[in-house]
Amino acid sequence: MTLVNPLPWIQRAQREHFAIGAFNANTLEQVQAIVSAAQAENAPALIQISHRALQHVGGGNTTLGLRYMVEIGRIAAQSVAVPIGLHLDHASEDEVLQAIALGFTSVMFDGGDLPFTQNIERTIKLREMAHAVDVCLEAEMGEVPRADSHGKVAGEVKLTRPAEAAEFVKATGVDTLAIALGSVHAIKRKEVQIDLERLQAIRSAVIVPLVLHGSSGVTDDHIVQGIKLGLCKVNVATQLSQAFTTSVRATLTADAAEVDPRRYLGPAREGMTARVRERIQFFGASGKAA
Ligand SMILES: [Zn+2]
Repeated sequence: MTLVNPLPWIQRAQREHFAIGAFNANTLEQVQAIVSAAQAENAPALIQISHRALQHVGGGNTTLGLRYMVEIGRIAAQSVAVPIGLHLDHASEDEVLQAIALGFTSVMFDGGDLPFTQNIERTIKLREMAHAVDVCLEAEMGEVPRADSHGKVAGEVKLTRPAEAAEFVKATGVDTLAIALGSVHAIKRKEVQIDLERLQAIRSAVIVPLVLHGSSGVTDDHIVQGIKLGLCKVNVATQLSQAFTTSVRATLTADAAEVDPRRYLGPAREGMTARVRERIQFFGASGKAA
């Protein structure tokens, strides 16, 4: 299929209490792993691209990174029969506009550093531009922090306030909302519990689909409960990097003289495909492309 706007699928997930996985990709093989897994599970899925992935793929030039990823994403989506969206995560205003123009079907505007009223103004403008070309717009209230390589979080954690989230969604007309419930980006062990009471309060105040960032560090028990309580897009990055890199390490450890990239990237792609399939099943999205 061609790349799709994922919003109708995310809304279906909201109605039927499952979640669409948004899976991060930094390389061609990782994009392929995501669409192969979605196809094998007959599930809708999102290829998710981070700012740092753009920098990597574009060799420091994020515009070039966007151009590479949109072409790779388009071909990957066309290679399977299930709905695939291409999502840009945590983007600036400029990156959002470029991504929309180039053919991304979903974008997250992160205006978290702006004052509240300015964040609303910018989000409204971007929502109008996104909707004009059938692109889904995600925003965030509160802030999901990022851990460093030692798993430490610097600065204060700003959890989402239900009333503020409701006001923001009403004012902006944004399609989906990422919320901060205590999860953290880039945590390598499943040890974080999210604030389920806060999720319930946000769910009853906000009508749009809710998004969980930083799921790799959250216990599976809390992810399941979170999906029951209304999370319907779940972002997965660190767990996929772990699956991919564990495979590369195993191949190269088994044969220290190996130099052919295909010999370690092929198994790594398979390893990540298995992990994406496991997450799709876990989110209840298997068979939902039907
Ligand atoms: Zn995030």
